[in-house]
Amino acid sequence: SVVTRFAPSPTGYLHIGGARTALFNWLYAKATGGRFLIRIEDTDKERSTQAAVDAIFKGLEWLGLTTDEDIVFQSGREQRHKDVVQALFEAGHAYACFMTPEETEAARETARAAGHALRSPWRDQIPTTDQLAAPHVIRFKGPLDEPLIINDAVQGQVKFNTKDMDDLILLRSDGTPTYNLAVVVDDHDMGITHVIRGDDHLNNAARQSLIYMAAGWNLPTFAHIPLIHGPDGAKLSKRHGAQAVGDYQDMGYLPEAMRNYLARLGWSHGDDEIFDDQQMIEWFDIKDINKAPARLDFDKLNHVNAHWIRQCAPERLTSLVEDDLNRREIAIDTAQAEILERTLPLIVERALKITDFADLLAFALAKRPLQIDEKTKKLLTEETIGRLCRLHENLLPLSDWSTGSLEVTLKNFVENEGVGFGKIGPALRGILSGGHPAPDISRILAALGKSESLDRLKDGLS
Ligand code: GLU
Repeated sequence: SVVTRFAPSPTGYLHIGGARTALFNWLYAKATGGRFLIRIEDTDKERSTQAAVDAIFKGLEWLGLTTDEDIVFQSGREQRHKDVVQALFEAGHAYACFMTPEETEAARETARAAGHALRSPWRDQIPTTDQLAAPHVIRFKGPLDEPLIINDAVQGQVKFNTKDMDDLILLRSDGTPTYNLAVVVDDHDMGITHVIRGDDHLNNAARQSLIYMAAGWNLPTFAHIPLIHGPDGAKLSKRHGAQAVGDYQDMGYLPEAMRNYLARLGWSHGDDEIFDDQQMIEWFDIKDINKAPARLDFDKLNHVNAHWIRQCAPERLTSLVEDDLNRREIAIDTAQAEILERTLPLIVERALKITDFADLLAFALAKRPLQIDEKTKKLLTEETIGRLCRLHENLLPLSDWSTGSLEVTLKNFVENEGVGFGKIGPALRGILSGGHPAPDISRILAALGKSESLDRLKDGLS
């Protein structure tokens, strides 16, 4: 059965490109009833940090991409990597190379002039035990000049020739295994059947294939996916702003919206834009991954996010919004918390992101007495004040404080007054909202609740 993996190097945050790679691997495993594994490629001790490992886990957890087995740390497998190099060496697929850096440079020049990649003069020598005591690296001994085809599930047939491929170092002079060797050994040992990753690894796939073949192991299916580009079509970089998954969380995107949007970014199922997990899992297939780079499109992301915000259960939405207000250091008391809970369903269609709620809620969370802006003050003529006082009396006995009931009450009121709603609407809105953007008046009243509404009305008329 299918086994996929996500194999990040912990040298920074979880990039959205990496998140999409993880998602595709996760989706493919789920779609085929297989397993999705995670391997942390932390062999580069200089660049790997615990903070990055934590950031990657946090990002994956937020996205809901959990592993089906224990997480593998590549650094813990060094002995196994060395053993495989030893076996390759004994089988004649690797050799000890004693070139100094200067000699290597010179050999590279010679090779270039001869039209092939680096070869070492040590390639066909059998070193003595004495020689082996001196510092050396172990290089891979592949075919010198043979065509090599990678049958990539996304890119199709990709042609290489081994004459363009260096005799790769497998073991450094300090005895540590190199990246391409470790990846092959780990993917083999973990039983990985499908390697889905960024197409910046396509050249590595060629090198890695040679190692698989030399070791006598089956090749996995490779699927190299195009990188994500920014809205301007250039490769995604710092210049485009948000890159870390955590940035998207802070910007107010929901994990299910990110899963939905990232899945669509580089994979398609007809013209469908909105998918829940089940739908994605049912439809996802490697063959529908696009060959061309996908462009990040914030309008589309916002559209998808708005959809998922509207599907949010009320308690979850409340807590997400409260967290966001917390982050902005906006403290709310119990009365405001009640107003907030009532207001959310009345304004939810206007939010694209969780972070939009702070502004959308400002009218509801404002503290009495509210500021009355100049425009509203001008509207408060004696006549209007008289009408609003009568409205206050009308509202006082109302027990059904729902939007529908308030709408009817307001309509009946202006009819009785013999005026259009425009005569009281703007002034009423100004008094109730304190000049903040707000929904229509029956919704404002429903959101505030009866006592806060009547108090604000009274404040404005005194
Ligand atoms: N560790 C590599 C990276 O972060 C990925 C290796 C792979 O997927 O084979 O780019």
